[in-house]
Amino acid sequence: MPSKILTSYVDGSWLVPGRRLITRENPGRLDRVASRWSPARPSDASKALEAAARAWPAWADTSPGFRLTLLETFLLNLESDRPRLATCITRENGKTLRESHAEIDAALADARYLLKQARSALRRSRPTRVTHHRERIHEPVGPFLLITPWNFPLATIVRKAVPALAFGNTVVLKPSELTPGTAAQVIRLLVDLPFPAGVVNLVLGTGPAVGPPLVGHPAMRGLSFTGSNRVGLELARQTAGRDVRLQLEMGGKNSLVVLADAALDRAVEAAVVGGFSCAGQWCTGTGRVIVEAPVYQTFCDRLATRAAALRVGPGDLERTEVGPVITHDRVRFARSTLTKALREGATIACGGAIPAFPPGLKGHFIPPTVLTGVTEDSKVFREELFLPILPVIRATDHTDALRLANAGSFGLSASIFTASSTRADHFLRHVEAGIAHHNCHTAFRRPDLPVSAWRESGRGIPECGDHAAGFFARPRAVYVQS
Ligand code: NAD
Repeated sequence: MPSKILTSYVDGSWLVPGRRLITRENPGRLDRVASRWSPARPSDASKALEAAARAWPAWADTSPGFRLTLLETFLLNLESDRPRLATCITRENGKTLRESHAEIDAALADARYLLKQARSALRRSRPTRVTHHRERIHEPVGPFLLITPWNFPLATIVRKAVPALAFGNTVVLKPSELTPGTAAQVIRLLVDLPFPAGVVNLVLGTGPAVGPPLVGHPAMRGLSFTGSNRVGLELARQTAGRDVRLQLEMGGKNSLVVLADAALDRAVEAAVVGGFSCAGQWCTGTGRVIVEAPVYQTFCDRLATRAAALRVGPGDLERTEVGPVITHDRVRFARSTLTKALREGATIACGGAIPAFPPGLKGHFIPPTVLTGVTEDSKVFREELFLPILPVIRATDHTDALRLANAGSFGLSASIFTASSTRADHFLRHVEAGIAHHNCHTAFRRPDLPVSAWRESGRGIPECGDHAAGFFARPRAVYVQS
């Protein structure tokens, strides 16, 4: 159990806790404390950005080799601290320990790929003297504000902070108020290394409390945000017209399409992994399943049987396959969502009954739920739920399945299960999603390709893959004549 009070880190020092302390409960064990933290004052938030602005010119002038070596050491330390970090993620977020370890693995893989890309981009930049007649140089941008969510509380921080710092920018991190402990541990691993004061800052607080002084600060030159559409689009409005680079990674309603010729057991497994991992709280997870009519009933029966067998419980138990959701508000939202879905004609194929607490368990648990008979204008089909509730809809044929997969305004991820490469190729070309799969679950990804978010799922240059230099560095075109 954490006894330490978490505070913000500004201009090279951990702040002294204020009088107001916030206790975050463990969502899988409500009788245990996950973290206790002291919110930053708005003036601390401003000081963090001012420190990042003061530190920037000298940091931007350090050699890329120095910065990359520091960041490589950070990743080694992160890797050796993995058991403590995984325990912390599970305690605050609720996901299973296996999922927390997988999150750390994914963060390390992304960060190592991003560092490799940065090394290669920076090798061609900042020469001791310009030796060619014309060159493109990657220049740093300035202080970046990084705003991150609770559902991947470590990975979303690492994949923003590592490329930002590698390219010579300074950072202020504003993590979710629901996972401050994970953020503080990541920042501690960074600032235990000889980063100059002001290069790395952490501001703990709720969005409404510390958002305005951070986002409104004139020193901020870039904002990388991952979270909901409501907040992301509000930040876009607040920064419009200013010299601020914007990267928004937002929500999704990711479709898994299953055609009649698919390997059904593999498709069911993909629906289980995509729909119920992280208790459904995965941005690229599966938000709806679209099944061609001839196999609809068989698919639904197999999925319901498989989902009903998943073991729900606290994330720190080895046997648990589905952990709790993040807060009690989400449980309330699940109840109202199910009531509405039934009113809109859906049927519960498994799960659905949300007890106050399952026997012997005190946590925000929702049994994996499969809804069948869902219609295309229902809320469960169109809106991001971020819950272990998976609606399944019937498509008349593959053309109808593609039309349904493109319904709504999101465009993050989509997948098709089919034995036909012609139909798969058509789907991969025409689905309105930045990440498209054939015969894999919707959250599958590798570090060398971007988290590309189309339509209302994102704005700006996407995260990861080969794109970091495009967002975290400014290209300078240099011409030399003798
Ligand atoms: P959220 O939008 O509620 O919060 C995200 C962050 O924004 C938090 O740190 C929050 O404190 C902060 N925030 C809130 N109001 C703010 C304000 N006025 N000013 C500044 N900051 C503010 O999202 P969440 O509930 O933490 O995360 C879930 C959402 O994140 C889902 O919609 C999910 O799809 C999305 N997500 C997307 C991706 C992706 O890569 N596309 C990855 C993970 C999560």
